[in-house]
Amino acid sequence: MDVTVKLKQVQERIRAAAVRARRDPKDVMLIAVSKYANMEQILRLITAGQRHFGESRVQNLQARDQEVRDWLTETMADGAEIATQIKWHMIGHLQRNKAATAMETCEMIHSIDSLRLAEHLNDIGSRRETAVQILMEVNTSGEESKNGVPIPAAIHMAEQFETLAHLQLVGLMTMARQTANPEEARNSFTTLREIFHELRFRKICGTHFKHLSMGMSGDFEIAIEEGSTLVRIGSAIFGAHPEPAMEMGT
Ligand SMILES: *Cc1c(COP(=O)(O)O)cnc(C)c1O
Repeated sequence: MDVTVKLKQVQERIRAAAVRARRDPKDVMLIAVSKYANMEQILRLITAGQRHFGESRVQNLQARDQEVRDWLTETMADGAEIATQIKWHMIGHLQRNKAATAMETCEMIHSIDSLRLAEHLNDIGSRRETAVQILMEVNTSGEESKNGVPIPAAIHMAEQFETLAHLQLVGLMTMARQTANPEEARNSFTTLREIFHELRFRKICGTHFKHLSMGMSGDFEIAIEEGSTLVRIGSAIFGAHPEPAMEMGT
């Protein structure tokens, strides 16, 4: 099936989940995770109106950003204008030596989970004009294999991120345990939402702190029911990929 057809299906499922949860569908943004997509598929999605993309490796993100820009300016009369609307999200674990590149190319970095990394980004940020938007990744599933700040450390870590003047903490991110039963993801999502509300309630984070980045192909509808504002969806649009943990249950 064509990626644009799958995009429409995913958009419709997002809309329906939001309506079920009595939320405005406009409050849920779709990030198309293109890490297993080819360039042609990405360009088809752009033609279909998709603007936000996610990658888990900075090198790929940077290369694709450049390719997309070149293609847009070469093939479309309004390509330069569209290029300014394309936004990249870094969703994978960020290595320190890639931090500067990530800050140059990304709209948001979703996966900040240590003070050391945040301070490094802040140092780079002090030499730039605009604060980079970051999300703090929380390990809500408790799996050792997962990145993210442990739940008990999350409030204090966010407090420390807030002291860094050249970063803007705009929300929280999590990955739920990947199982055949997406309902098992719900616990992760409610935990993230509770941490979010606590940070707002205690005024540790202000009004710029507004995002819950949660929900992937297997569990995004539940994430939306639990308050997600950013869903990161790859295989439901681009097709299943070889990674065993990501089976789509077709
Ligand atoms: C790959 C990835 C996704 C998308 O996963 P799908 O199950 O293919 O939708 C979302 N978030 C992160 C952090 C990822 O690495």
